[in-house]
Amino acid sequence: RVAASFTKRHFPLPRLGSDSAEPRTPHFDVIVIGGGHAGTEAATAAARCGSRTLLLTHRVDTIGQMSCNPSFGGIGKGHLMREVDALDGLCSRICDQSGVHYKVLNRCKGPAVWGLRAQIDRKLYKQNMQKEILSTPLLTVQEGAVEDLILTEPEPEHTGKCRVSGVILVDGSTVYSESVILTTGTFLRGMIVIGLEMHPAGRLGDQPSIGLAQTLEKLGFVVGRLKTGTPPRIAKDSINFSILNKQTPDNPSLPFSFMNETVWIKPEDQLPCYLTHTNPRVDEIVLKNLHLNSHVKETIRGPRYCPSIESKVLRFPNRQHQVWLEPEGMDSDLIYPQGLSMTLPAELQEKMITCIRGLEKAKVIQPGYGVQYDYLDPRQITPSLETHLVQRLFFAGQINGTTGYEEAAAQGVIAGINASLRVNRKPPFVVSRTEGYIGVLIDDLTTLGTSEPYRMFTSRVEFRLSLRPDNADSRLTLRGYKEAGCVSQQRYERACWMKSSLEEGISVLKSIEFSSSKWKNLIPEASISTSRSLPVRALDVLKYEEVDVDSLAKAVPEPLKKYTKCRELAERLKIEATYESVLFHQLQEIKEVQRDEALQLPKDLDYLTVRDVSLSHEVREKLHFSRPQTIGAASRIPGVTPAAIINLLRFVKTTQ
Ligand code: FAD
Repeated sequence: RVAASFTKRHFPLPRLGSDSAEPRTPHFDVIVIGGGHAGTEAATAAARCGSRTLLLTHRVDTIGQMSCNPSFGGIGKGHLMREVDALDGLCSRICDQSGVHYKVLNRCKGPAVWGLRAQIDRKLYKQNMQKEILSTPLLTVQEGAVEDLILTEPEPEHTGKCRVSGVILVDGSTVYSESVILTTGTFLRGMIVIGLEMHPAGRLGDQPSIGLAQTLEKLGFVVGRLKTGTPPRIAKDSINFSILNKQTPDNPSLPFSFMNETVWIKPEDQLPCYLTHTNPRVDEIVLKNLHLNSHVKETIRGPRYCPSIESKVLRFPNRQHQVWLEPEGMDSDLIYPQGLSMTLPAELQEKMITCIRGLEKAKVIQPGYGVQYDYLDPRQITPSLETHLVQRLFFAGQINGTTGYEEAAAQGVIAGINASLRVNRKPPFVVSRTEGYIGVLIDDLTTLGTSEPYRMFTSRVEFRLSLRPDNADSRLTLRGYKEAGCVSQQRYERACWMKSSLEEGISVLKSIEFSSSKWKNLIPEASISTSRSLPVRALDVLKYEEVDVDSLAKAVPEPLKKYTKCRELAERLKIEATYESVLFHQLQEIKEVQRDEALQLPKDLDYLTVRDVSLSHEVREKLHFSRPQTIGAASRIPGVTPAAIINLLRFVKTTQ
């Protein structure tokens, strides 16, 4: 059983009438359980939306803790961070205050799929996050382990479903609220594994959540089990960096947040990373000691795209695997060896590591370990992240089967907004697949479910050219401000200014026309084709790789000079020009998808018994479990046939 940790401050309990019929005054609008990456975003988003919010977490000093890699962003994940930032979320701004090595991945490809990534100073991130959380208006932060949920009778308009109305802590105290968000990460029945040793823990040094896991199961939620792992940490001064490949950071750094023009630590002061590789000796140690490594033998699924070294050796034998040596912080003595997640017995970990070039004298300061945990089948939640089973109960983060800080943060911000909107009886805030990576993430989870830790990739996204990191503010900030109230006035005004400046800039660039030969004279460095006799628009000239807004403005100072004043605006105009023609076609496809998304399925439809629509038993069961909200979502559920979709479509049209 979890030890009582609710000791620091006690809440004045809400006054309950002596007559049980007397309505209870809730103490908070929203309670968020868990201070990880989902919980911090959820709690601050709910508070920004105007809800009195309580963040309950095991320990205040672990708020903002990065359980594994000291880095944020990457391919697909960088897009999520931009979108979280566009909704005024925290992680991008906090990263910009704490980043020690910025690098854009995928630079050789188009800007639509660039992966903004940075190594982060672990300590600074935690400090900056805690400062922000503890000073957020309307947000109370409290230490405590939540053991159970308080449930009440169904609301009259939603007969059959119970409603969450608060939480019970491990010491028996209760706190009431209108909505509850669970963001418990790897803590539900968490079990840490090193070698053959296993012990209950949410992550190293933290207690697991057992009571809450039992409650969810009792309520009828379908629970699965997943695993992940983390590498050992190595003493920096025991590594011979001089013989390894050095990677320097980008200069200039591309900030994560739309609100920042620069990052806190200048590129010239940032730290390098180093690359080394595994070798046959590493494979040998892994293979020889498989009998001492229970995590590897478990049939529970681990992360496919971030596997342990043991899984890599077993799946791809006789290959060299990359190991990136990444700094844990500006003044940290530790190095994080990315690619060496392992669960070998602690005494063998150093033996294996010292076989690797540059690590011959490496000292392991903290061993790598694995963690196994419960997650909830995400088909049990709606696109607003509210559960189908219990009203006003929301799930966000790793509890939904995802892996990664960014995936957790993205769900957190959406859950926080929706928990607050629900309290105020406003329509949910849903991001569709055509609007953002957040939409793709949540739609994948809620329609397809997941049987392995889910991480975001650009390849999961149909409309990659439209959903770019540079334009996340145009896609989401205005909606966030108007529909959810989660965006500050300052950010809203900035996004409006950027949107109108881009529209104006594009129409100006379309209006300037010269012949190809004239352009060639005006911008001699560009390889502009001179074969065309028709006039060429400045917008088309901007598509050439060698041309940017600066070179155009030198050729045609009026009216283009003003677009060179803001670096971001100039860069975004170039990106818009690059994708102009393809975006026109993509927009038509997006409209088609949006038509399907607009066809809402009745919320209370009982798929198991409804007679007016012809569906096979198998399809009925799938629809009953996932409860898709639109025809579009239903069509993405595996096993829901085209014939079933046509029948559903007919049904929707006759009932609307
Ligand atoms: P967490 O960040 O885990 O936060 C959960 C929070 O809930 C904690 O603050 C905890 O104290 C609190 N909590 C739990 N139960 C209760 C309760 N009953 N009452 C009160 N508070 C509670 N991701 C990757 O992308 N790559 C990796 O290689 C990787 N490796 C990992 C290795 C390990 C060992 C672990 C633990 C995680 C790893 N992750 C990895 C996952 C990444 O850390 C998570 O995806 C991310 O932190 C999830 O965020 P979250 O907010 O959902 O949960």
